[in-house]
Amino acid sequence: MIVVMSPSATKAQVTAVRRTVEAHGLQAFVSVGQERTVVGVVGTDVEQVANIGSLDGVEQVIRVTQPYKLASAEHHPERTRVVVGGVPIGQGEELVAIAGPCSVESRQMLLDTARWVRHEGARMLRGGAFKPRTSPYAFQGLGRPALELLAEARAETGLPVVSEVTDAADVELMGSSVDVLQVGSRNMHNFVLLRAVGQSARPVLLKRGFGATIEEWLMAAEYVLSSGNSDVILCERGIRTFETATRNTLDLSAVPLLRRHTHLPIAVDPSHGTGQRDLVAPMALAAAAAGADALLIEVHPDPPNALSDGPQSLSFPEFGALMDELRRLQFVRNGAAAAGDGAAVGREAVAARDGAAAGRGGSASRAPAPPVRELRGRIDQVDRRIAALLQERAALALEVQEARGLDRHGHDVARERELLEQAAQASGGPLEPEELTAIFGAILRASRSAQRRRAEAHVLDRREP
Ligand code: PEP
Ligand code: MN
Repeated sequence: MIVVMSPSATKAQVTAVRRTVEAHGLQAFVSVGQERTVVGVVGTDVEQVANIGSLDGVEQVIRVTQPYKLASAEHHPERTRVVVGGVPIGQGEELVAIAGPCSVESRQMLLDTARWVRHEGARMLRGGAFKPRTSPYAFQGLGRPALELLAEARAETGLPVVSEVTDAADVELMGSSVDVLQVGSRNMHNFVLLRAVGQSARPVLLKRGFGATIEEWLMAAEYVLSSGNSDVILCERGIRTFETATRNTLDLSAVPLLRRHTHLPIAVDPSHGTGQRDLVAPMALAAAAAGADALLIEVHPDPPNALSDGPQSLSFPEFGALMDELRRLQFVRNGAAAAGDGAAVGREAVAARDGAAAGRGGSASRAPAPPVRELRGRIDQVDRRIAALLQERAALALEVQEARGLDRHGHDVARERELLEQAAQASGGPLEPEELTAIFGAILRASRSAQRRRAEAHVLDRREP
C-alpha cells in the first residue's frame, strides 16, 4: 500500500501516518520528494490500515497490485538518482559508462585498463575479485588481493569501483574497499545475500537472474530495499532463451518497461548480454537509445588471452570507438578530463600522461589552451579545403556523366577499384589503409548519388506533358 501525502502535508502529519502504520506491526518507508512525500506500507496484512486515508494530510491511498512496493514507480513518483563516489546515475543524468576487466588478473593489467577506460570517458571501473564460474576448475578470481588492487586503481584514477560479492560473509569486507556491491546473475535469488547487501551502506548493482522475469527481479530489488538500502541499480545482462547464437538474449525491452514500473536506475551489460565482442557496441548504443542510465562494459588489454570472458571483452581501441559513438550521439558528453568529481588525483595523472590531448572532449567547462585552439583553427581550414575539393570532384564527375551521355549508365568500375587500391596503399600519415579506403568508398558513393540525381532530372525533363 502506498500513502500519498498532499503537497501541503506537514511533517507532523507524515509522522502520524508513520506511527499509525508501525503501531499495527507494519513497516513504513517514508520517501520525501521535491513536491510531495509518499509513505510505503509493507507487511503481511496491510489491510489493517485500510482507513489510513482519513488521517489529516493524506491525499490518496494506492493499493499496489504489483507484489513489489518500494521498487514501484508509484511509491516513488520521481526517478531515483544513486550517487556513487560523486558520480550520479539515474534521474535524467547523462549515461554513465562503467568499464573494466571481467576479472582482476594482475596489478598491471588492472591499472592499464583503469587508465585507459578513464582516458576514454568511463566514469566508473568494474573488475571481478570473486568470480562465480560455471566450472570449479575455471579461474575463480584473485580474491582479497584483487580488492587491494581495485582500491589502488581507484586511488590513482579517481574512478569509483564496482565488484561482485558472492558471499554474505564478505559484504563487510567488500564494502570497505569497493564503492558498489554487485550481485551477480547467479545470485539474484540468493535471498540471504540480498538481505546482507541490503544492510550495507554501499549502493548495490543488482543483475537480472538469467532465468528471472522482470517481476522476480524487482522482487529481488525489494529484498534489498526493504532491508534498508535504497541505493539499488538494476542491470539487464541477458536472459536464457532457446537461442544459442548468442551467449544470452539481451532483453532491451526491459529498459523502457522498467522505466514504467520502477523508479530505480537501470544499467545494461551488453558484454554478458551477447557474449560476442562485435555485438557489444551495437547493443550498447541500442541500450543507450532505449533509455539506459548506465552501461557495464568488459574491457581487456589483450582479450584473446583473458582469464575470463575474453570473447566478449572489448580491446582498448574498440572501447575507445564505442565511447566516441556514444559521444557523437550525445548520450555521453564528458571527456576524460571531466570524469568524476572526486578525481583530482586521477585528473592530474591523466593530464600529465596525455599532454594536450587531455583537453579533447573534456573542454565543456574550460577553454582549450592556446596551442589547442591554434591547431583546431588549422583543422577547420583543412576541413573547408576538403569540402571545396569534394565539391570540385563531384562537379567533374557530373561533367564526365554529361560527356558520356546522360542516357548511358555505367561507371568505370575498374577505375574505381584502382582508386580504392591506391588509397589502400597510400602511406606516410596516421590513417590506416582501411580508413582511407572507407573514406574514398564514401566519396565514390556520394559522387554516384549526385550523378543519379542528375540522370533522374534528365528523365523527368523528357517525360511527355
Ligand atoms: C560479471 O559482471 O562479472 C558477471 C559475472 O556477470 P553476470 O552475473 O551477469 O553473469
Ligand atoms: Mn564476465
